[in-house]
Amino acid sequence: MRFLLIFLASLLFGDAHIFVLHRINDPRYPSTNTQTAQLRNYFEFLKSHNYKVVTLSTLIKMIKNKKPIDKIVVFTIDDSYKSFYKNGLPLFKKYNYPFTLFVYTKATTEKWGDFMSWDEVREAKKHGELGVHSFSHPHLAKLSNKEIIDDTKKAIEIFKKEIGYIPKIYSYPYGEYDKRVKKIIKKFFPYIVNQNPGVIDFTTPLDDMDRIALTGKTNITKKLKLKRLHANINITKSKNKIIKVSGKIYDKVPYINLYLTKMGWIYKIPLKNGFFSTNLNFPLKKYRNRLIIRYNYKIISKMIIKEEK
Ligand SMILES: [Zn+2]
Repeated sequence: MRFLLIFLASLLFGDAHIFVLHRINDPRYPSTNTQTAQLRNYFEFLKSHNYKVVTLSTLIKMIKNKKPIDKIVVFTIDDSYKSFYKNGLPLFKKYNYPFTLFVYTKATTEKWGDFMSWDEVREAKKHGELGVHSFSHPHLAKLSNKEIIDDTKKAIEIFKKEIGYIPKIYSYPYGEYDKRVKKIIKKFFPYIVNQNPGVIDFTTPLDDMDRIALTGKTNITKKLKLKRLHANINITKSKNKIIKVSGKIYDKVPYINLYLTKMGWIYKIPLKNGFFSTNLNFPLKKYRNRLIIRYNYKIISKMIIKEEK
């Protein structure tokens, strides 16, 4: 039954892609930068291949109203950098592409040099929509419950004052979250985006939407081919060691490939009636780790945070 639903969902409604941008034409920071010329190439590709660019709220509405979302693309911009205002916004306007801008509330309110002012945010909003990217851009998983709530409430208060309403969408700073963080943020925002590489379809929870980064010279053609892999994944951990990863894959695929940060890929993990299990015994090396499961262009990923206590 589940397989049939997934099959129908992808057949009838397709997959949408949410991209995330940070800085535009600011080569001082190559890991978060997208050159204007590159952005123009992306836009030309989308235009000539009949993709439709919409805001995140529009995509959410389409999903709720069971409208086909194949060929739908969303651009989200994190951090409200000045370089987006200067170098990105004119291009979005030229192509008439709306966007969703996630405001780093503290940086904007305190007028930090690299960030947009509230006047610039209000100007940008005419061509897109706004979302909340926290108040102080903290590592949420390192904060106590109260600290997360306080940071969120601060951002909300300032949005009310500067914009006159509270957006319904939130983007995790650093794409960093775990179950506890998500539970708290959900009390304030029904829709949340992360930074796990993945794709949106009708099975995607709207409080945990994956996004694909478009930095450097990312090949957008390949990214647009990605489709959601439908899976239930269990991660068995002992302190900061990943003992094993197991689960059920609902798509009909012959095997899966699995990636974990600093461990690299394990190829061709076999499936038995859709189930897989693989022992890793791998101690996490980084604070934020990515688990990716793929078969060809089908992809699903998870974030695993190393506990520091
Ligand atoms: Zn950010």
